[in-house]
Amino acid sequence: MPETIGFIGTGIMGQPMALNLLKGGHRVSVYNRTRAKTGALEQAGARVAASPAEAARGASVVMTIVSDSAAIEEVVLGKSGLIETIGSGAVLIDSSTISPAVSRKLACHLAGKGAAMLDAPVTGSKHGAEKGELTFMIGGDPGTLERALPILKLLGKKHIYCGQNGLGLAAKLAQNVIQSTMVEIFCEGFVLATKAGVRPETMMEIIQGSMARAALTDFKAPFIFRGDFTPYFPLKLMHKDLELAMEAAFAQNIPMPAAAAVKEVYGAAKAQGKGDLDYTAVVTTLEELAGTKVRAGVSPAQ
Ligand code: NAP
Repeated sequence: MPETIGFIGTGIMGQPMALNLLKGGHRVSVYNRTRAKTGALEQAGARVAASPAEAARGASVVMTIVSDSAAIEEVVLGKSGLIETIGSGAVLIDSSTISPAVSRKLACHLAGKGAAMLDAPVTGSKHGAEKGELTFMIGGDPGTLERALPILKLLGKKHIYCGQNGLGLAAKLAQNVIQSTMVEIFCEGFVLATKAGVRPETMMEIIQGSMARAALTDFKAPFIFRGDFTPYFPLKLMHKDLELAMEAAFAQNIPMPAAAAVKEVYGAAKAQGKGDLDYTAVVTTLEELAGTKVRAGVSPAQ
């Protein structure tokens, strides 16, 4: 049964997700702060809305995927925010990675309008969004999830229920602590090996023959070795997620010494102006400090 869906935030992740909803036969009304980024969706049959409120009007499901907590607060509660028009009985699925506390607060605002909210952050990056193969981590009422599942199935291959509102995000922050640290420490190891004179290709062969092998670094290594930092996941957003994880750790009295150090390395890269590059650009900051480059096909001595 085709549904009327409001979709807000057509960035790296949102654009392919909205496209998959259109391909699924739904009527989609899209809003993006920068209107130029909705052109491809309009061509694919989406209606372009002038505000979040307009995108949500008449929708049975509203999806949001914007940068951070401030952005989602603006989209939901700000001027012409979706809270003005979202219908009683509608569901807001928010796939932004934001503060769990902010998400719970928004769920309360929506409940006041008779609408339900799921926090449904994702992993799988741009390619997972394009293929409809994202993994969703979901918080909220199980009945609301059941209601939203046919929509979520167009976008992802795994939908993992984590518990009450905010717990999808709690899981997502933990996942990105692990992912950011894996990439950073991979880069540190490769900088160490390269400066000593071991070629990146040789080091990669060793890693792939060892227990340190991981799908993440198998995927990211060719980009690092080419020096291609086209953003799949912008570095400034990974830094934001580490900051959110630190806030959660503080609130729960949890020490996270390695994550705290890794956050500072991403923070340094961001301060150098690399925030809009892929988060693997963290390697360039480590390279600059060490005076070497991890590039395949380039002799370590060069
Ligand atoms: P992105 O390409 O930078 O897109 C960010 C989106 O948020 C854009 O549509 C942007 O609008 C919008 N936005 C930012 N501030 C806003 C505001 N104040 N009001 C309204 N809209 C605002 O980022 P992305 O990679 O798609 O990431 C989106 C979310 O998904 C983030 O929370 C990120 O952490 C999460 N995520 C990303 C990935 C990934 O691999 N990329 C994976 C998992 C989760 P403009 O176009 O006007 O700037």
